[in-house]
Amino acid sequence: MNFDSDYAMLINGQRATAAASFDVVNPANEQVIASAPDASPEDLDTAIAAARAAFPGWAATPIDERRKLIDQMGDVILANIDSLKRLLTKEQGKPHHEAEGEIIGAGYWLKGAAQLQLPVTVNEDSAERYSYTRHVPLGVVGAIAPWNFPMILAMFKIGPALLAGNTMVLKPSPFTPLTTLKMGELVAGILPPGVLNIVTGGDSLGPWMTAHPGFDKISFTGSTATGRRVMQSAAPTLKRVTLELGGNDAAIVMPDVDVEAMAQQLFWAAFTNNGQICIATKRMYIHEDIYDELRDALVAYGKTVKVGDGSEQGTQIGPLNNKPQYERVLGLIQDAKDKGYNFLMGGDAADVPGYFIPVTMLDNPPEDSRIVQEEQFGPVLPLIKFSDADQVVARANATKYGLGGSVWGKDEDKALEIAERIASGTVWVNETQHLSPMAAFGGMKQSGLGVEGGVEGLLEYTNTQTIVRKKVAA
Ligand code: NAD
Repeated sequence: MNFDSDYAMLINGQRATAAASFDVVNPANEQVIASAPDASPEDLDTAIAAARAAFPGWAATPIDERRKLIDQMGDVILANIDSLKRLLTKEQGKPHHEAEGEIIGAGYWLKGAAQLQLPVTVNEDSAERYSYTRHVPLGVVGAIAPWNFPMILAMFKIGPALLAGNTMVLKPSPFTPLTTLKMGELVAGILPPGVLNIVTGGDSLGPWMTAHPGFDKISFTGSTATGRRVMQSAAPTLKRVTLELGGNDAAIVMPDVDVEAMAQQLFWAAFTNNGQICIATKRMYIHEDIYDELRDALVAYGKTVKVGDGSEQGTQIGPLNNKPQYERVLGLIQDAKDKGYNFLMGGDAADVPGYFIPVTMLDNPPEDSRIVQEEQFGPVLPLIKFSDADQVVARANATKYGLGGSVWGKDEDKALEIAERIASGTVWVNETQHLSPMAAFGGMKQSGLGVEGGVEGLLEYTNTQTIVRKKVAA
């Protein structure tokens, strides 16, 4: 297969082109690298009709057979790591080693999700009746993915949705459609036609999907602002929604942390994928006893990190993925400059092609500053001093977001006690961003609705049905 051209949608098991196309840009040099099909409303109708037609057969396929096929999809992705990773770097910007990590994660996510079990609950087994509750597929799922982890976040949806017996139409972000399209081509022969369809398009395609009466559910990952629009648009037809949205994760670093041992890990908690992770550390609260030492260690390490084209050897941080995001992050930096906050490093974007922003850290900006209160989703981290545990928990929770968070310290009991007081869907102790297909992941407050992962995530792709049988002689 040629991974560098011929990008086509996947509809009813076949390659599908569209009358129009749109350009995809390499964020490291702003060059157009390819064009992708720009689906029309009719193309979307065709994809939904294919998914609808495939649904009864797929839902009736024994779950162990579905399991086997999803596992095989994982194997095919793992057999094409090198080509997929190069393509992912080209359209997303992340360095090759991170792109490789994402592709491997995508393959294993499918294989892991394929092992989940759908529970059946026996409610009553008495002389009079037998009652049980089971979980049946919803129908056709519309899946909408963002540009920061196009592959793995698509797998979060594909694995459990298909395992539960649903069919799907998946839409990647217009900034990163290419790797997903090639993945579709790779797995097309494994699944019955129409079970997984992939459509690409511009800004109208997402809203067409959420309003379309042909979907039974929308599974969306993206920003909180778009999540609100998705929910609104899904309401008229009462589509089920799962919304995985933005975050403003706090890391709380306790005074007993081993600064030397942990500084690099704390750095990457914020700067992996150029900070473009929903669960990146976006505010780092450091206890005053170690503030200066950790601040200096973070800056010293930050200065050694190589920012550049993700396809070049040695690059540790690539460009931002796209121009709007690049400009948004620069806007936040400019606001911090205008307010006179103290920059420890970074702050000025070099005048070179590509959406590059240097690693930027700020020294104790005010709690109510935009750089602390808003999700930056870029390589900008405010370091903030704290002295009191109760107060830092209150500050960590004083946000509309509730996605993730982390607590770092040698005293694990103390760290755990603080972790349990953070109002977020996931809180890590002495690590961060570890996710598993076996564990529920989702946001509290405006970070989302529902979860992905684990049995809880699988159940979100089902209707709950109770069967009650009266035990009487016929
Ligand atoms: P985005 O909301 O701009 O776009 C996400 C997807 O929605 C894209 O495919 C886009 O084309 C589509 N879309 C845009 N407008 C739409 C509309 N009105 N209706 C339907 N679909 C629409 O988000 P993004 O900028 O691609 O991603 C970054 C955001 O995603 C950040 O806020 C980040 O925190 C969040 N995110 C959350 C998670 C999570 O699991 N909670 C994971 C990754 C990213």
